[in-house]
Amino acid sequence: MSVANEFDKQADNLGMGDTLREECGVFGIFGHPDATALTALGLHALQHRGQEAAGIVVYDGKRFHSERRLGLVGDTFSKRHVIERLPGSAAVGHVRYSTTGETILRNVQPLFAELDGGGFAVAHNGNLTNALSLRRQLVRDGAIMQSTSDTEVILHLLARSKRARFVERFVSLVGLTNKKLVGARDPLGIRPLVLGELDGAPILTSETCALDIIGAKFVRDVENGEVIIIGEAGIESHKPFPVMQPRPCIFEYIYFARPDSIVGGKSVYQVRRNLGTELARESPANADIVVPVPDSGVPAAIGFAQASGLNYELGIIRNHYVGRTFIEPTQQIRELGVRMKHSANRAAVAGKRIVLIDDSLVRGTTSVKIVRMMREAGAKEVHFRIASPPITHPDFYGIDTPDKDKLLAATHDLEGMRKYIGADSLAFLSVDGLYRAMGHEKRNPEKPQYTDHCFTGEYPTPLTDKTGEIAPRQLSLLAEAS
Ligand code: AMP
Repeated sequence: MSVANEFDKQADNLGMGDTLREECGVFGIFGHPDATALTALGLHALQHRGQEAAGIVVYDGKRFHSERRLGLVGDTFSKRHVIERLPGSAAVGHVRYSTTGETILRNVQPLFAELDGGGFAVAHNGNLTNALSLRRQLVRDGAIMQSTSDTEVILHLLARSKRARFVERFVSLVGLTNKKLVGARDPLGIRPLVLGELDGAPILTSETCALDIIGAKFVRDVENGEVIIIGEAGIESHKPFPVMQPRPCIFEYIYFARPDSIVGGKSVYQVRRNLGTELARESPANADIVVPVPDSGVPAAIGFAQASGLNYELGIIRNHYVGRTFIEPTQQIRELGVRMKHSANRAAVAGKRIVLIDDSLVRGTTSVKIVRMMREAGAKEVHFRIASPPITHPDFYGIDTPDKDKLLAATHDLEGMRKYIGADSLAFLSVDGLYRAMGHEKRNPEKPQYTDHCFTGEYPTPLTDKTGEIAPRQLSLLAEAS
């Protein structure tokens, strides 16, 4: 059997038959004596972007040092001896979240390789929608892969690139060479990346909350398609990709980013409150109190309560020592996770007609449990309001959503969903309501301001691994890999 066939077999065994799914937070800092500790703190603030694994690679002027472990940032990087093992003034770090079951140590980022021009560490946020096709092609060409991560595909493309300059070789990532810190945002700007600064040391990271935790200054968003190269001589900006209209992912605002972050110049918290306000206008409920599904539903519930004049009550108490629901790979464990995470606050809900607010509905797992829990705690009526439109399509750009047949809104109409979750009434925010909450009059159907494919099915790039075709332009953009 050829290497390529063997690889295909392995890929299928690993459940990589479709696209590789990774979501991540990245952090990089250049020229600071406390680079490692600051990176650890930055990753701690980005923990919501991935709880399965964390890693830091640091350069001390002579050598690279790395520590990559499964588990939370604090499990590894709160220990003094671990930080001391990582000396250096330039560092990159990564938190990883994946649900395809291949979170194994060799996939934990940042990945490191010795390339022609020296060592290179890379931490990547998002997916390559054609990673599997590229990987198959690379393996056919003789590449030996050590992990099942998209990021390693990037390393191989870099290693094979015939172009001399790094600026021509990137997609969306943060990387560290022995001389430079490099950040690149994909041509559509789907995933966020910001530039910051602390004590004169530049920082590249996924969200502004990672700057706030260390008292760093926000400088600006990295632009879509922009590559930033930071070295002793300062900061260079390059635009190696064809100019495209930015399409940031709207789901960052709805769920994924932390509410205290500023993404694309907008406060995530403010947007989430607006989502609640719009929802109250579109779909008011005859009820006594507004109850958020914590924590994701809290800002929208505040907006909903204010707009509807209803009291806001903590009818559900969240146990903060359990990770996000989706982290667990099997449905059985996921369900257990939901029970472990939320408890009813009987004193607030007994005898009341309640409006439950959550940010989104995906499989319906959370909603089913919560509605049942509210009824068991004595709620008289349960009205569910979702502060985003129905999710009818999966995501392939780094936010894990299940296959289409597991998405409740893809398989049920509104009444079917209401029955399934057991609520007295159910309503979702409209797509235009979502855009209004973002500060637009409505969605521009010709040139949508964001990528909103989960709600509309309009994907902003070809889904190469889904269609089986390799898009030649994408290939040439990604690398000169022949
Ligand atoms: P579900 O229980 O499957 O309907 O999922 C909805 C719940 O999961 C909501 O409380 C959301 O806050 C949360 N959620 C939405 N998208 C994601 C995601 N990509 N990863 C983890 N949790 C999510």
